[in-house]
Amino acid sequence: MGNEELSKNYEPHQAEERWYAYWLENHFFHAEDKSEKPPFAIVIPPPNVTGILHMGHALNNTLQDIIIRYKRMQGFNALWMPGTDHAGIATQNVVEQELAKEGLSRHDLGREKFIERVWEWRSKYGGAIINQLKRLGSSCDWERERFTMDEGLSKAVREVFVKLYDDGLVYQGDYIVNWCPRCHTAISDLEVEYHQEASNLWNIRYPYADGSGDIIVATTRPETMLGDTAVAVNPNDDRYRDKIGKEVILPLVNRKIPVIADDYVTMEFGSGAVKITPSSDPNDFAMAGRHNLEIIPIMDGNAMINANGGPYCGQDRYTCRENVVRDLEEQGYLVGIEPYAHNIGKCYRCKTDIEPTVSKQWFVKVTPLAKEAIAAVVKGNTRIIPSTWEATYFEWMNNIRDWCISRQIWWGHRIPVWYCDGCGKVIVSKTDPDRCPECNSTTLRQDEDVLDTWFSSALWPFSTLGWPEETDALKTFYPTSLLVTGFDILFFWVARMMMMGLYNMKNVPFRDVYLHALVRDEKGEKMSKSKGNSIDPLQMIDKYGADAFRFTLAAFTAQGRDVRMSEERIEGYKFFINKIWNATRFTMMNLEGFSGRDEKPGEGSGLLPDRWIRARLNRTIEEISQQLDEYRFNDAAAGIYQFVWHEFCDWYLELIKPVLYGKEEEGKKEDVLRTLYMVLKQSLQLLHPFMPFLTEEIWQKCIHDGTSIMISPFPKTVASYQDLSAEKEMSLLMEVITKIRNIRGEMNVPPSKKITVTISAPDPGMKALMNRDRNYIVNLANLEQLTIGGDMEEPKGVATGVVASMRIFVFLEGVVDISAEKERLKKEMAKMEKELKMVSNKLSNQDFLQKAAPQIIEKEELKYKGLRDKFSILENLYKKFEEIKE
Ligand SMILES: [Zn+2]
Ligand SMILES: [Zn+2]
Repeated sequence: MGNEELSKNYEPHQAEERWYAYWLENHFFHAEDKSEKPPFAIVIPPPNVTGILHMGHALNNTLQDIIIRYKRMQGFNALWMPGTDHAGIATQNVVEQELAKEGLSRHDLGREKFIERVWEWRSKYGGAIINQLKRLGSSCDWERERFTMDEGLSKAVREVFVKLYDDGLVYQGDYIVNWCPRCHTAISDLEVEYHQEASNLWNIRYPYADGSGDIIVATTRPETMLGDTAVAVNPNDDRYRDKIGKEVILPLVNRKIPVIADDYVTMEFGSGAVKITPSSDPNDFAMAGRHNLEIIPIMDGNAMINANGGPYCGQDRYTCRENVVRDLEEQGYLVGIEPYAHNIGKCYRCKTDIEPTVSKQWFVKVTPLAKEAIAAVVKGNTRIIPSTWEATYFEWMNNIRDWCISRQIWWGHRIPVWYCDGCGKVIVSKTDPDRCPECNSTTLRQDEDVLDTWFSSALWPFSTLGWPEETDALKTFYPTSLLVTGFDILFFWVARMMMMGLYNMKNVPFRDVYLHALVRDEKGEKMSKSKGNSIDPLQMIDKYGADAFRFTLAAFTAQGRDVRMSEERIEGYKFFINKIWNATRFTMMNLEGFSGRDEKPGEGSGLLPDRWIRARLNRTIEEISQQLDEYRFNDAAAGIYQFVWHEFCDWYLELIKPVLYGKEEEGKKEDVLRTLYMVLKQSLQLLHPFMPFLTEEIWQKCIHDGTSIMISPFPKTVASYQDLSAEKEMSLLMEVITKIRNIRGEMNVPPSKKITVTISAPDPGMKALMNRDRNYIVNLANLEQLTIGGDMEEPKGVATGVVASMRIFVFLEGVVDISAEKERLKKEMAKMEKELKMVSNKLSNQDFLQKAAPQIIEKEELKYKGLRDKFSILENLYKKFEEIKE
């Protein structure tokens, strides 16, 4: 049994290192593949191997750790599956930057050597984020750590790709993709960032081929006209009704293109006629499909004009724009230029302008997959929490477009497709083929592309459990219980896991999805290095300890609201830690030499404080369990904070001091000690999911019966602890004591000064209660004398407070010099009145109001308001003194 003396202060750093190592050594984070216990599983949102712990990770992982520790203590076979993501483009970029320092590009190394280099980088630096998660206290089952590019997961990726292909759900097609000419890859719609930029709208004249005038088109990208294959108008536009079906001559290119009608065209935009470039615009591409238009690509992978651009061939897109505009103007086709702000899509990695491009890409046909994923949420097989996100999920899933899964980079899962040079056969295979099954040729070329990073993360909930093998872990933990993630990856990740889970496992990947908000600063602004308002989690852990940091995150995580963080808030919870530490020191000091602390925990002394604290503990256990079950992290944190700080430390410990010191209720001391110990112990257990290190430190030194708090049972409610009458009685008592303390404060009675109080209690029941509890009032309000009577007249020289039907008379005679106090207040009020007058004169002076800067006026107004508030406080106080009968 631990019973060491605690040092004066809690040292978080020592404790954190020591206990994390101890937990690991004892495999406490490990879940069993097969177990009698009910399973509970969470898969971690795998951080990028390039990641550095930021506030988003800190929040996300703290919440997961709270839940998994809670479930583990509740007796679940609790698995928190960890791992990292290979993060295709991000990681490739990092290594390319490294190479650039050596004056090399990935092309200098070649594909194989480059990939080797990335693996080297990964083994050297890829573990950084994992170590940072450990500093936070994350109790992941590290023995199971996975990586999206490891052997098992790569096998799962191929398995799924081939299955999708065989089911006709993967296809290769011409498609317009968001092309980053810098990264040389297609990126998904979700990865495009839009920025509004000031630009122009160019109005260009396209003459009719039959010489009957011309049609004006408006465009924000004049250079793309080189690839125009139609002009489109709205079929309901009277201005153009007779023009539909005619041909126009494309200026500069001198190609004939048709005028077509399509509902997509807005009549109000520009002239109502638009140029159609299927190779450069997704909407035009779609229109080309509807009208069977030719698609003429005009740019290469570097966004340079290709041979289809005629004289502009070899120019980059921006130079080409200048030249096209100049030529149009010279040749009289440019009708006008208007300034126009529009959204420009940028690559999320490198901020280069996206160039929509038509190319051969691999796609997943998602509509049938999305249907299942929608149904699963409708049926409640997966719950999205907070439920407000459901609508967003449905909206997106109902309008989902096919998922472009090929990326033109090297780092990632290479697409398992081979082309036979002999006969042209396309071979899609789980294993690398050595010859063509058709013609036996051995000259096979593997597809150059890799899969979108999100393809492997979409399989994460089952691939990490060993799929496609039928492992025990898979049987035990799939579907997983909960996913905790930021709402910003609902589509990137959550939706795709839903689709892939249902498709491969015929069951949802998780029962609950808890979506948390983003971490912002205390004013609600986005954190950013450039604004200087970002908080570095590791720095906070260094400064205040992991527990204070974790507790703050939980305390500010309210469903559906931003998590507003500041360093002061974290510092504030450091005081909470001190409070717990000191309360423990106090408790242990009093328990010294007492050997029966673990006996008869169910029985208390029967004294009001004991009955009350048990009832409150019981209620707190019930509420916290419910709040954690409902992922109401802030409520749970507030509940335990309130209980430990205010009820246990501020009230209970004070109430029992006379008993502990042998001044009262002598025979009850041992029973009180038992309650004290039981409540401290269970408070630590309730706190453990939030503050794992502090609670383990105290547990090991003071409490433990041979093992760790992290595997001790989470407190359960005890029916016999319920005590409504104790709660009612205590709340009345607290009100009375608080009232007397407030009066003492207002009337400037020094805390050490003992005073006399009379309570007038017309209700006989209340009077009896007050009499029974009189010692508590005397002790906690620091009274010389307490009289409790029936209905009484207000005596002279008292300040009066009211609690329920009782009146509380605090005698001030001899304690406070009432007339001197009144005099003092009067003087102070007079002085303040003068100041108020001065400021108000200033504020009504027209000259001042006209000449002074607005911020000066505002300052004066604030000053005025502050003085007014102070004045009214003094005024009220003065009134109270006036009411005292002398
Ligand atoms: Zn890019
Ligand atoms: Zn062949």
